[in-house]
Amino acid sequence: MSYVRLDKVTKRYREIYAARNISLAIEKGEFFCLVGPSGSGKTTMLRLIAGFVRPTAGRVYIDGRRIDDQPPYKRDVGIVFQNYALFPHMSVRDNVAFGLRVRNLDRVAIDQRIEEMLDLVQLRGFEDRRPDELSGGQQQRVALVRALVTRPRVLLLDEPLGALDKKLRTQMQVELKQIQREVGITTIFVTHDQEEALSLSDRVGVIDKGVLVQLGSPTEVYERPTNHFVANFIGQSNFFKGEITDLGDEGVVVTTPSGAVLRGSARSGLSLGQQVTLAVRPEKVRLTTGDVEAHNRLEGTVVHVTYLGNSTSYVIDSGDGGTVVALQQNLLAGGAYPAGTEVVVTWSKESCFVVAANPARVPQPRQGSE
Ligand code: ADP
Ligand code: MG
Repeated sequence: MSYVRLDKVTKRYREIYAARNISLAIEKGEFFCLVGPSGSGKTTMLRLIAGFVRPTAGRVYIDGRRIDDQPPYKRDVGIVFQNYALFPHMSVRDNVAFGLRVRNLDRVAIDQRIEEMLDLVQLRGFEDRRPDELSGGQQQRVALVRALVTRPRVLLLDEPLGALDKKLRTQMQVELKQIQREVGITTIFVTHDQEEALSLSDRVGVIDKGVLVQLGSPTEVYERPTNHFVANFIGQSNFFKGEITDLGDEGVVVTTPSGAVLRGSARSGLSLGQQVTLAVRPEKVRLTTGDVEAHNRLEGTVVHVTYLGNSTSYVIDSGDGGTVVALQQNLLAGGAYPAGTEVVVTWSKESCFVVAANPARVPQPRQGSE
């Protein structure tokens, strides 16, 4: 049975839908990531679950009980914010103890729980330091155990690693995942960083302008984005518009307005003559100069080369076929195709798929127009 459940939840701020008819079920012990661009409604979703905002419509359940009419302190959730929100004048011990003191536990029990918690994040010995005497990563660990110390039913994390540099962030991701497994707590993690979402979670929900546009495992969401927005927000994609001119078990054939014939994998709900968009990831596109056979083949000229260290990104102008971005591993030093090189671009039909237009939604005014 699902542990946290949103049932057709809408949150409207005047004409802005921060959450639009969202239904979502999260399993007990699951590590769920909600990913979307800035302003898409991620924080609102957490606030709806934590109880800082009430839904305009819909219901929220934890462990089978309706909680959207309950005040935050009765919901038993732990929260970590991006900016740590530690009490600057308090020691690590007092920061962690804060939630427990409010709960009237006795001194010995509190001390014991704090020790356990600081052990969990390897911060024993730091009890008497103040937040400004800790590194960013250590502060974030204090914020994490402060949220966990009351043993909440659900842990909500709002871009908790956003303020850390990339290396430390990656390290904290691994730690966070380990701690989450150890504690076994149902976790909802919010981020605008798609890589972070893919690497951390059991399941990912992609949100765009308050609409939950796709839900699935990291692999599903990356390998088979169902719509244009997801295909471009989670990683990058090349898109080709055209008409379906053949359709069978072996796949779909799409003919572009310029006459290029492209092949993609089949999926249900397609029909002959339909106008569709095919998508393929830059790293699934191959560049050669020789003669090759492939499901998909375009000729073009390299117009832009970006060296990225472990890979090189090429922009290829294929005339009427449009522009194609190809990401190639740098297996050998040198050997790159300089701008101006005539190349052949190929990809398999398995790595090529039809994406739907973005889901219909109400028009939204620009942010800040209120
Ligand atoms: P995210 O966390 O993904 O950046 P938010 O949930 O903070 O997005 O915001 C979603 C949308 O709701 C934005 O358009 C934002 O401006 C709007 N919004 C959020 N909170 C309020 C509020 N208290 N009053 C008015 N609009 C709000
Ligand atoms: Mg936010």
